[in-house]
Amino acid sequence: MAQIIIRNLRKDFGDFTAVKSSSFTIEEGEFFMLLGPSGCGKTTTLRMIAGLELPTSGEIYIDGEDVSQKPASNRDIAFVFQMFALYPHLNVRQNISYPLKSQGMPKRQIKAKVAEVAKLLGIEEILHKPVSGLSGGDRQRIALGRAIVREPKAFMMDEPLGALDAEFRERMAEDLRALHDRMGATTVYVTHDQLEAMQMGDKIVVMNHGSVEQFGVPQDIYDWPATIFVADFIGSPSMNFLHFNGSVNAGDSAVALEGQVFEIPTQLQSCEGEIVFGIRPEYVSFDQNSLYRGDIIAAEYLGTTQIVTLQSRNGTLKSRIPSAEPASVGENVGLAFNPRAITLFDKKTGAALLSEGNKGVLDNG
Ligand code: ATP
Repeated sequence: MAQIIIRNLRKDFGDFTAVKSSSFTIEEGEFFMLLGPSGCGKTTTLRMIAGLELPTSGEIYIDGEDVSQKPASNRDIAFVFQMFALYPHLNVRQNISYPLKSQGMPKRQIKAKVAEVAKLLGIEEILHKPVSGLSGGDRQRIALGRAIVREPKAFMMDEPLGALDAEFRERMAEDLRALHDRMGATTVYVTHDQLEAMQMGDKIVVMNHGSVEQFGVPQDIYDWPATIFVADFIGSPSMNFLHFNGSVNAGDSAVALEGQVFEIPTQLQSCEGEIVFGIRPEYVSFDQNSLYRGDIIAAEYLGTTQIVTLQSRNGTLKSRIPSAEPASVGENVGLAFNPRAITLFDKKTGAALLSEGNKGVLDNG
């Protein structure tokens, strides 16, 4: 299993830059997510790691070896695509053994390896069946089996669950993660689904327009978004953004809105002009003593909780509170924000206003 280091990786297609100077490290045995909206450069990054695309500049190290300009065949990496292509005229066993046969491995050894992989994937009973007519989930397992049987240094997966329906997708995601935990194989996984990335990933790189916006463990990315883009992309409903014009001084650890002072969990960098005050819906509660107020404009019942939408002087915001709490449309309420969960951003740059001392939380790349 491999450690993969990406340094200043860039890919140009003509005069279009699909990936701009990306740097991050994938540790041995990690389940690593490349996350971002369509077209942000996830697949191009994955293809460069696998050697299916050569970088314009920058380096890729696999287990300390610079493979940047080496072809895929020299990297020993297995690729699992969304459209899992299987050989329809072969049965399950033949599909899984295919890569070993091409390597010229002796038959007895192939049989033992296929049996081991089939057990790992729970597909021993269907080894004799033709692949045509099997369910999407089984076909995905077979595609995985074909990748696993080679015992590559790492797995690259490009939206492998994208073709499955929602319910099955969730089950397969759990299966994949459990399989990874049993094998401990370095896996790089592309998805545009933030929930999938949070549920499955040991670490996440969030990409936008070809750039790495943030790199870290899911909880840090959720709790300490480095940019407005990340704060907005991660979480459902996403973070609330309240806009105000003003200034904060370096080292400040409180900010006032409408005369209400809010303590914040870190010291700030200085900023002047348009500032964005970020708070996630689950940290917004009602407090009649607060000077910061909003009008309730909608309440959406979700069983144990409700999402209440409010209009404040600085924009609309959502609060996730217990359903039992009264919230009537038209009511004016005071608002409290959990001080540990407030983030401020510079609107111009989109970056979080953390002081250098606190930035270590984010700069784990
Ligand atoms: P998606 O989830 O939609 O595949 P992605 O984040 O994986 O998105 P990429 O497939 O890496 O994005 O593409 C990034 C950008 O590079 C896109 O604008 C795409 O059109 C462009 N691109 C990718 N491959 C090529 C190519 N061979 N030639 C020209 N442009 C390309």
